[in-house]
Amino acid sequence: MSTTRILLSQSVIQTRVRELGRELSEHYAGKHPIFLGVMNGALFFLTDLLRAVDLDEVEPSTIRVASYAGAQSTGVLHGLDGLGDSFRGRHVLILDDILETGLTLSSLAKAIRKAGAADVKTCVLLEKPAARVRPIHADWVGFHIADEFVVGYGLDYNGRYRNLRQVRVLENVE
Ligand code: 5GP
Ligand code: MG
Repeated sequence: MSTTRILLSQSVIQTRVRELGRELSEHYAGKHPIFLGVMNGALFFLTDLLRAVDLDEVEPSTIRVASYAGAQSTGVLHGLDGLGDSFRGRHVLILDDILETGLTLSSLAKAIRKAGAADVKTCVLLEKPAARVRPIHADWVGFHIADEFVVGYGLDYNGRYRNLRQVRVLENVE
């Protein structure tokens, strides 16, 4: 059996999400931004942040991309074809669960800029210090964590653990 160790408790996560909500409310005041959650990892981050911001005109949206198989990044990003016109002229905030190599965020940000967005910013719940394949920083970061494989609050291991309310380190990976 794999075991898990709590890294970030539910209340620590919720406190930080409320802080981020205040910062994003200030930043996007008077605008009509799209909050684009990268599925499935940003599922809870997106919904909690949407309820933490004080913005009347934020538009929730989701996109599905994948570069991971098990605990290993494959380095290839799927799901970026056919973005269409929905981002043209818009302020887009990409929300992702975790920034590691930067492949996901940089490819996605590039594709959305190419689709005509007026402004693209990024916000991640977690950032690992691991070597960046692409030089990218997130505009907002919830927590900086050590280079360990984490699960919970949207993050999965082969489809498991996603619904945990805490972020936990996966130990003894099978
Ligand atoms: P990057 O493209 O920056 O290397 O990695 C981003 C994606 O890899 C995340 O959206 C997430 O799906 C996955 N990922 C990276 N590190 C972890 C981790 O520690 N745990 C889990 N569950 N997924 C991770
Ligand atoms: Mg992901």
